[in-house]
Amino acid sequence: MHRRDALKAGAAALASWGLSGCRSATAVRPAATAPRPGRPPLQLALPRIARDRIIRTTVGLRPHRDGGFVVRADKLDGKLLVHNYGHGGAGMSLAWGCGTLVADLARPAEATRAAVIGCGAPGLCTARQLQRRGYDVTIYAATVPPDTTSNRSWAGYTPTTALILPERRTPAWDRQFTTAAEISYRQLQTMVGPKYGIYWIDAYNGTDDPEARGGGNDGDLVPEHLRPGRDREVLGPGEHPFPTRYAVRASNLAIEPSIYMDALVDDFLAAGGRVVIRRFESRQQLVGLPEPIIVNCTGLGSFSLFDDKELVPIRGQLTFVVPQPELNYRVSSRATNGGNAGINPRSDGIVVGNSQDPGDWSLDVKEEILARNLEAAAAFVSGMRPPSMSTRLTRSAPPSVPPAAESFFDWE
Ligand SMILES: Cc1cc2nc3c(=O)[nH]c(=O)nc-3n(C[C@H](O)[C@H](O)[C@H](O)COP(=O)(O)OP(=O)(O)OC[C@H]3O[C@@H](n4cnc5c(N)ncnc54)[C@H](O)[C@@H]3O)c2cc1C
Repeated sequence: MHRRDALKAGAAALASWGLSGCRSATAVRPAATAPRPGRPPLQLALPRIARDRIIRTTVGLRPHRDGGFVVRADKLDGKLLVHNYGHGGAGMSLAWGCGTLVADLARPAEATRAAVIGCGAPGLCTARQLQRRGYDVTIYAATVPPDTTSNRSWAGYTPTTALILPERRTPAWDRQFTTAAEISYRQLQTMVGPKYGIYWIDAYNGTDDPEARGGGNDGDLVPEHLRPGRDREVLGPGEHPFPTRYAVRASNLAIEPSIYMDALVDDFLAAGGRVVIRRFESRQQLVGLPEPIIVNCTGLGSFSLFDDKELVPIRGQLTFVVPQPELNYRVSSRATNGGNAGINPRSDGIVVGNSQDPGDWSLDVKEEILARNLEAAAAFVSGMRPPSMSTRLTRSAPPSVPPAAESFFDWE
């Protein structure tokens, strides 16, 4: 297929992909039509979305391949070359697990020194997994945090977003994916806390049809036990403050890239790793490295360095407004203006919107995307019920009967 046709076909397929990527297969519970007894309406802080609150807009290019990420061993002269790139919109989610797959592939080489090319999340997590197995690791990279795609990520645990076309899946690739998703999910859970900027957050989807399913392509890709929204619950009219009939809540893992990426670099250096700033123009330059094992974690860089023309950028633009520490939830909703009305609070700013434009290599901010997303989010928020005066902000929790006082007696 001609490259432009391939991109168009990819764009059509990708257009049907949700931006959050991870959908629950859990059966939808019947929606309530009125607040249930014992369930007071949620009191959520109102996001303040306005042009004069914008603090920055970032652009990143997701390294997508229709055939999914590549984790594979190869030879480069006398060296072992292991590829680990092309994670699309799931690189933050899959990095730890793909790093383990790389370490497994490196083991037969019986060498103790490894070079990792690339310092995004996949490169850093791979370097850490190699260090955990006793390798002496040097990272070589043209750029390091904060100048990586990983730092420009929306950064939820979204292991399938913009990752692979369903018809390109193979049993072998699926096995790699499931292993990587499983390892990463567990690893990220154990890193929750301020040190790594990872936390659980309530994510709401405002909708008039809680039974509707997005057009995602993950189908059976993520096993049930790895799906973050398994505790999905439907809030009916009156139970939530959003301007839609229903709000579907689920717990999601969230990452703050600016904290996470620096913490990964710190851990890598503390374990004896070295970082060398260097751009490689050709495979031949890699042959000159002293390490007998080379791991390619260059993401989109593999388009030219390894001539992988299946790589396609999926451009993503995020706008940030002044952070509000009291916002303790994410919300998304279908916007009527074609924009993305997502609101994702982080300590480095509230992320407003997102975008997925396949085949677009431009790193320039596009005003029309910014305006559309800002307008969509502001319109959504303007229809929200403000929290009642003199009540505390709350979190969604299924109604429960308080335990009797005597149930606490005689503990220990
Ligand atoms: C807007 C947006 C939202 C996203 N949201 C999510 C999300 O919610 N969840 C999720 O899991 N993922 C998300 N992603 C995807 C995720 O950010 C990427 O999959 C991941 O960052 C890719 O990592 P990488 O290492 O391939 O690229 P990078 O982070 O860019 O790292 C590549 C590294 O390779 C180096 N390099 C490249 N070429 C060379 C060369 N020739 N010589 C030397 N060094 C080289 C670079 O300098 C860099 O250090 C999102 C991405 C974007 C843009």
